[in-house]
Amino acid sequence: MPDAATMEKIVALCKRRGFIFASSEIYGGLGSTYDYGHYGVLLKTNVKNEWWRAMLQERDDIVALDSAILQHPKTWEASGHLAGFTDPMADCRTCGQRFRADHVDDLQCPQKPSKHPGEGPNCDLTEARDFNLMFETTMGPVKDSGATVYLRPETAQGIFVNFKNVLQFSRKKPPFGIAQIGKSFRNEITPGNFVFRTREFEQMEMEFFVPPGEAPRWYEFWKAARHGWYVELGLREDHLRLREHDPDELSHYSSATADVEYLFPIGWSELEGIANRGDFDLTQHAEHSGEKLEYFDPQTNERYVPHVIEPAAGADRATLAFLVDAYDEDELGGEARTVLKLHPRLAPVKVAVLPHLRKDGLPEAAQEVYAALRGRMQSEYDEGGSIGKRYRRQDEIGTPYCVTVDHQSLEDRTVTVRDRDTLEQERVAIDGLSDELAARLAAPWSSPKPGLLASE
Ligand code: ATP
Repeated sequence: MPDAATMEKIVALCKRRGFIFASSEIYGGLGSTYDYGHYGVLLKTNVKNEWWRAMLQERDDIVALDSAILQHPKTWEASGHLAGFTDPMADCRTCGQRFRADHVDDLQCPQKPSKHPGEGPNCDLTEARDFNLMFETTMGPVKDSGATVYLRPETAQGIFVNFKNVLQFSRKKPPFGIAQIGKSFRNEITPGNFVFRTREFEQMEMEFFVPPGEAPRWYEFWKAARHGWYVELGLREDHLRLREHDPDELSHYSSATADVEYLFPIGWSELEGIANRGDFDLTQHAEHSGEKLEYFDPQTNERYVPHVIEPAAGADRATLAFLVDAYDEDELGGEARTVLKLHPRLAPVKVAVLPHLRKDGLPEAAQEVYAALRGRMQSEYDEGGSIGKRYRRQDEIGTPYCVTVDHQSLEDRTVTVRDRDTLEQERVAIDGLSDELAARLAAPWSSPKPGLLASE
């Protein structure tokens, strides 16, 4: 059986249930920018919180940072972005469209969608030329060349320029890391595939500073750790792989890079990159700023520029991967069901409380149960429509548990707990309910969706 998830179905579900939709829709949208609605915000927040948990809560050697989006323009001179953060672009003289010259094999000709740009009889592509992906804007009321600033194209540089600050106040020594989540902006030539590639997106980046001799070991460590993070959060292991870059793919500053890739409906694509950046960034910023960006080890009396291992992930791309991996369709009682089999820790809503009927004191009893749960976990109360319809509404947004309050609840203070994946219903005492659900939510979980072999 083929996997139920297609990009069209994911986009449709996201719109229907208000996860993610086109930005400025009333004005016709704005090229590949998206807004997140209620469930989308809850889901993406859970993804980011899981990243913080892995970086901060479960480790002693990483600290958090939130640097400004607008930074001194010299930052981008030093980092090499002003000169080299470019993609090759080609124009079509016939239709006026622009394409990423190195992606034409994945793109469609706007006039003849069955062909790639350049292949149609009327196509007339220019030679590829470099296009800088940084968005420029002007700082202050005067528009002169000295006032040009850039929207950051990555969060990493905000970390490097703060290396000295953090070293002073955090009382850390290499190996240690600085982690940041925030918006980045890239004027992508051909954005697309929903939130996979947009011009405004959120990154989750961590720079891990290590003694130079330890860099290869930490590179291996972070590759395994980051791959493991996606597995722990339920992505099917056979839909994930680590791909080491060939030497000709490597950036000039990197001695090794690997991508965690996910098998999206568009094929294997990057979720996250892990790079051994050496001492490139600190050395560049030291040269351009005149500040010493190094570490003095009082034990060995050695002074050195730490090397950096960087795991760089995208919050939107990860959210999309979790949605794709979770999306499933089946049949229940003769009716089609759409269900998001999300890891319970990622699910936007953890539990829905449903009175079986809208009478006989059941709504009041259910409200009481809801009030007791909502302080502890994201919960929802729903009394509208048949019970089957309400279950399906929750399945579609990935709610792992539905709690139903019925007549028996009034007699013996128990409720039924329905499991989204197994569909089993169990009676649980109201008094122990929130502990019981909290324990289930914290338990290890793996996707019940079939893997690659089964879905061929
Ligand atoms: P790609 O090759 O897909 O353009 P990249 O190698 O340039 O990505 P990095 O600079 O390594 O990406 O950024 C780290 C992460 O940020 C990527 O793995 C991805 O998850 C996310 N990311 C990068 N560009 C975008 C974008 N335009 N839209 C959404 N997420 C992005």
